Amino acid sequence: MTAVTARRDPPPVGVPRGGAGPAPRARPGAVLALIGAGAAAVLALWWHGTPLLGGFGDWLTNAGRITGLEAGYGVIVLIALMARIPPVERGVGADRLARWHSMGGRYTIGLVVAHALLITWGYAVTAHTTVTHQAWTLLDSYPDVLAATAAGALLVMTAVASARAVRPRLRYETWYYLHFYTYLAAALAFSHQFADGAEFMTSAAARVAWSALYAGVGAAIAWFRFVTPARQALRHRLRVTKVKTEAPGVVSVVIGGRHLEELRAESGQFFRWRFLTRGLWWTSSPYSLSAPPRRDRLRITVKAAGGHSDALRGLRPGTRVVAEGPYGALTGAARRRRKVLLIAGGVGITPLRALLESLPAAPGDLTLIYRVSSLRDAVFRRELEEIAARRKARVWFVAGRRDELDGNPLSGGELTRRVPGLIDHDVYLCGPPGLTAAVTRELLDAGLRRRQIHRESFAF
Ligand SMILES: Cc1cc2nc3c(=O)[nH]c(=O)nc-3n(C[C@H](O)[C@H](O)[C@H](O)COP(=O)(O)OP(=O)(O)OC[C@H]3O[C@@H](n4cnc5c(N)ncnc54)[C@H](O)[C@@H]3O)c2cc1C
Repeated sequence: MTAVTARRDPPPVGVPRGGAGPAPRARPGAVLALIGAGAAAVLALWWHGTPLLGGFGDWLTNAGRITGLEAGYGVIVLIALMARIPPVERGVGADRLARWHSMGGRYTIGLVVAHALLITWGYAVTAHTTVTHQAWTLLDSYPDVLAATAAGALLVMTAVASARAVRPRLRYETWYYLHFYTYLAAALAFSHQFADGAEFMTSAAARVAWSALYAGVGAAIAWFRFVTPARQALRHRLRVTKVKTEAPGVVSVVIGGRHLEELRAESGQFFRWRFLTRGLWWTSSPYSLSAPPRRDRLRITVKAAGGHSDALRGLRPGTRVVAEGPYGALTGAARRRRKVLLIAGGVGITPLRALLESLPAAPGDLTLIYRVSSLRDAVFRRELEEIAARRKARVWFVAGRRDELDGNPLSGGELTRRVPGLIDHDVYLCGPPGLTAAVTRELLDAGLRRRQIHRESFAF
């Protein structure tokens, strides 16, 4: 371990911002409460439109109606979570949204399948026929059921592609673009809901509210995922100004532009970057800001992990760039305590490097632990030492492969020993998913509360 301590007084630091004050951010608890209230309202809609139940067939059919309504609601919530609505992205954080989306996806698929089975079975019992015969009748003579069945199949296909056993076998882009079929699925299933759903056939108010929900989410997708990036590209005119090698396989790319303070980006956040050059223009990848954002430039630092990231070292100054963002909740706004511990694993140093420079802190209140497999791989070593000296912060490089180290240097016990008053720190944690999960467990064991730990994994 190498420790670097301060020698000079820190200069004033600050994050450039737009003139309009702090950017709004939604509280995760409030977002979950809103989603829960929506689910309860959907149940109330069924309750309101349902007379007394009579017989087994009726019970099954109504269980099918409830699961169908909740599935229709679940699909639109899943899409809304990925609409990249700025206050939600800022307040909840992209990786937590992705986790909610993935967990919600499993429940929603369960509801879709349960809906199809229960409705078919319930109708079959009531009509005294077989389930197969009833399934055929539904497909053949009920309006839009065929389209809804295709929608269900698309959703199941997306879920299969996202399953743990399948996902690693697919290219990221294949998996990503498959998700666009959920938009088609939502559109295909929509008319079936009005044509066959008893709640909507009898209530104009329910039809209006449901349409408003779907239209609102559709508008958010169109605005935040397509119109906003195009407007930002025109307004800020981003271009690569410099590409610099930082360590083996790691480059920094400096991107210049106009009026960048209007983006209200903060240290710790990331953008999805699209470089308009041959071979790269068709895909956008998330990279965090590796330095506090400035009015005229942003910097990212990228480790070669595959085709896209490897190609960045060949970027030429002048290349046009489209940046979608800023996203992410790993910012100073999450902080509650005076003392801050930053823990980075590998290239997870990028957002923490920016935070080390810009988080307001008194001398001695900031500590950075940087876990790398060898000191040779430590990116920004000199920069980190300079910032630490200027800000009277401490930097620990924890170098070495796991089998070379004596015990776990990031265990709760070791962290408590190395960081005096650990329990009184806010901890910002960034790195590969395995490392962030393991260190979170250690911190909780050491007595920290979950709300003291702010983390981001470089994987969705
Ligand atoms: C919020 C966030 C911030 C990140 N910040 C940085 C950073 O500052 N520096 C850095 O070096 N890396 C960062 N990454 C990781 C980086 O995005 C991936 O390493 C990069 O996209 C790999 O793409 P590739 O085509 O080179 O490799 P591939 O071989 O295509 O992919 C390697 C792995 O990266 C992931 N990946 C690929 N494309 C994407 C994508 N568009 N979105 C999400 N994940 C993808 C996949 O899980 C894949 O398994 C960040 C990731 C996230 C999610």
